[in-house]
Amino acid sequence: MVAGQLAARGIKDERVLAAMEKVPRHLFTAPEYAEMAYDDMALPLGDGQTISQPYMVAVMTELLALRGGEKVLEVGTGSGYQAAVLAELAAEVYTVEYRPELAERAKRKLDGLGYGNIRSMAADGSAGWPEGAPYQGILVTAAAPDVPPPLIEQLDEGGRLVIPLGSRGSQRLLMAVKRQGRLVKEYHTFCVFVPLLGQYGWPDSGE
Ligand code: SAH
Repeated sequence: MVAGQLAARGIKDERVLAAMEKVPRHLFTAPEYAEMAYDDMALPLGDGQTISQPYMVAVMTELLALRGGEKVLEVGTGSGYQAAVLAELAAEVYTVEYRPELAERAKRKLDGLGYGNIRSMAADGSAGWPEGAPYQGILVTAAAPDVPPPLIEQLDEGGRLVIPLGSRGSQRLLMAVKRQGRLVKEYHTFCVFVPLLGQYGWPDSGE
């Protein structure tokens, strides 16, 4: 997976490649998909949610440019896989999941794997997690109509925010750096994520 899907397609950050080599992705998929865990695709988690394609995890993680000392917020814990990758690369990870059953399952998995530097909770992460702020990196793994203002507030000066922005059906990855309180924006690849729900996301239509 790392050589064929990530390095071959331009992922260069050695720390990201090493982290993805290390985290056992098959433990994060639903058991019936474990055999496909290292394939080049997103996989269902149940509840209509998905664990992102490995390449997308790598692209988003690389855009955060983590060096090791950061406190990072993830919005959209899902399976917990991305949180585990972040935990290999940063000092502390705060991760928020909207659906309590997914949050609970991910927490059990991450605790079981011994990730002591991850805090998780079930809540609306479109409002961030103020108690942990400021974050040097914020990663949103669900698609938003626009950048939720609380996330800009909770991002540290010089910190990086990565978020898929666009419609419910298709988005572009935004990487923004906070400079003098404002976001300096850079758009990257097109992508398709499940919608960010909650106060600063899309209305919850029950999907
Ligand atoms: N990062 C995950 C995949 C995320 S899929 C992984 O590695 O497996 C997107 C997740 O975002 C879904 O689990 C969805 O329930 C969650 N989500 C949607 N809106 C949210 C919100 N407002 N706050 C927190 N999580 C949200």
